[in-house]
Amino acid sequence: MRASRYLIATQKETPNDAVVISHQLMLRAGMIRRLSSGLYTWLPTGLRVLRKVERIVREEMDCAGSLEMLMPVVQPAELWEESGRWQQYGPELLRISDRHNNDFCLGPTHEEVITDLIRNEIKSYKQLPANFYQVQTKFRDEIRPRFGVMRAREFTMKDAYSFHVDADSLQETYDIMHGAYCRIFERIGLDYRPVLADTGSIGGSSSHEFHVLAQSGEDDIAFSSKSRYAANVELAEAVAPTGERAAPSQEMQEVHTPNQKTIAAVSEFLQSDPAHSVKTLIVLGECEEGESAPLVALVLRGDHELNELKAEKLSGIASPLQFAPEQRIAEALGCHIGSLGPVGMKVETIVDRSAAHLADFICGANRDDYHYTGVNWGRDVALSRIEDLRNVVAGDISPDGQGTLEIKRGIEVGHIFQLGEKYSRAMNATVLDENGKEQVIPMGCYGIGVSRIVAAAIEQNYDDSGIIWPDAIAPFQLAIVPINMHKSDLVREKCEHLYESLRAKGVDVLLMDEPKARLGAMLADVELIGIPHRIVIGDRGLEKGVVEYKGRADAESQEFAVSQLEDVLL
Ligand code: ATP
Ligand code: MG
Ligand code: MG
Ligand code: MG
Repeated sequence: MRASRYLIATQKETPNDAVVISHQLMLRAGMIRRLSSGLYTWLPTGLRVLRKVERIVREEMDCAGSLEMLMPVVQPAELWEESGRWQQYGPELLRISDRHNNDFCLGPTHEEVITDLIRNEIKSYKQLPANFYQVQTKFRDEIRPRFGVMRAREFTMKDAYSFHVDADSLQETYDIMHGAYCRIFERIGLDYRPVLADTGSIGGSSSHEFHVLAQSGEDDIAFSSKSRYAANVELAEAVAPTGERAAPSQEMQEVHTPNQKTIAAVSEFLQSDPAHSVKTLIVLGECEEGESAPLVALVLRGDHELNELKAEKLSGIASPLQFAPEQRIAEALGCHIGSLGPVGMKVETIVDRSAAHLADFICGANRDDYHYTGVNWGRDVALSRIEDLRNVVAGDISPDGQGTLEIKRGIEVGHIFQLGEKYSRAMNATVLDENGKEQVIPMGCYGIGVSRIVAAAIEQNYDDSGIIWPDAIAPFQLAIVPINMHKSDLVREKCEHLYESLRAKGVDVLLMDEPKARLGAMLADVELIGIPHRIVIGDRGLEKGVVEYKGRADAESQEFAVSQLEDVLL
């Protein structure tokens, strides 16, 4: 590429609405521009990086035996009604209607569409296992789009879905996809960790997230000091990798009213916390007379809406007796996880500790499912499941019993999940088994945030001068920077020759051939954009038969004999 025919679009100033380094550098390096909240245009430099990430993802998916396809972004409401998610998904789902008043949504994920396809295409167990993927634009109406493309509303995801005869086959494909994900992040050159992720209401132990370790990450990851144990410290969100929520259970439809004593205890507690540091309360309390007691309630508080939420949630308290996950209680209350601000659905404390009799109940039958903060017995419950991790602090014993936990921030760049029969059962996707009997198809799903990876890679690779791309995803591998190319025939000839020869060899090379550009400005651009290798070619060097080379992360440049350089590069 010739700079004279390219859009470099670099900026000196740091845009003040960009708080994380990747967002700042993507704007400054001319990779993206904001159109509107959570919507970005990818400029040529950004798109080059995005395409390189996509290419690696595609190669590894192909290699894992997944077949590429492409599904529509716009999806009919009927399919979402079949799966139950039209009601459950909440405001992250952007709903639209067409000129005939038919309802649609912009796809945040594609379980419904692919399950519909499979139930029509696959009839026999002999056609299984099957595995499909796409690289596609997703839309999620995120409550708080931020950090540029890291949490955008429109973004690129690779999503894959697998279909099986039985759980063993699902496990086998899951393991293959897990391996493919590791290779993807290794090839890109990221410091990443696969971590246990919450499986929520879907159950099982089979969900992993892939996190890029970085201070700006929105998740806390707990690592054992002694073993390979690593898990997301997120509260049991009951969310599949593709953002779906658990259906409210039957028993949660029942609504109970707290008694005056409980209401007073909650009010008192909320008032004692004027800084709003507590976002979510689990309340153990009592119901009004005549209703079954005791009572468990979830009280959620928005950042600035203490009073409304307090009243609203208190009157909508759900049935306690089954001790359903907080997530389900939240759903019964009509709350959306995303509406809780950056801390998510964090259980901060329990009010009305006088309801001690509940402790026995919780620590008995449901001890593996629950763990509440702020009561003495809570800390004593074994940290046996991922849900329990929500309260851990650094230094706690690792759930696998090996070593203590260290907590680091992570950016979720991938998420794989054994869905089981969740969608295939709801949508009646079946095959005939060996005995000619109809059987529901177990499913897996596998997501990667392709556009988020671009930002995450920058969070791990930058310095004061700009981005330092890992070679595998750099927009250009090499920049040729001429000194006074418009004045010196020799410099022009050398640069052109090198440029054309490298291009012919398939190297992504940027020739800085703007006639009037100053050397300092060109070098600053090359560093800001993060091109891993650069060569400066000038008359003075050529007279001595040398050019200057510098790797982006090197402290010093070095001289190379022209002939030596050509041996290395050409
Ligand atoms: P998060 O917890 O960050 O909201 P998620 O768990 O909702 O992500 P998944 O449903 O697991 O996301 O989707 C698969 C992948 O898509 C995620 O691992 C992430 O890398 C990416 N992704 C999800 N939401 C966004 C977004 N708003 N912007 C960019 N990438 C996203
Ligand atoms: Mg996820
Ligand atoms: Mg999300
Ligand atoms: Mg997540």
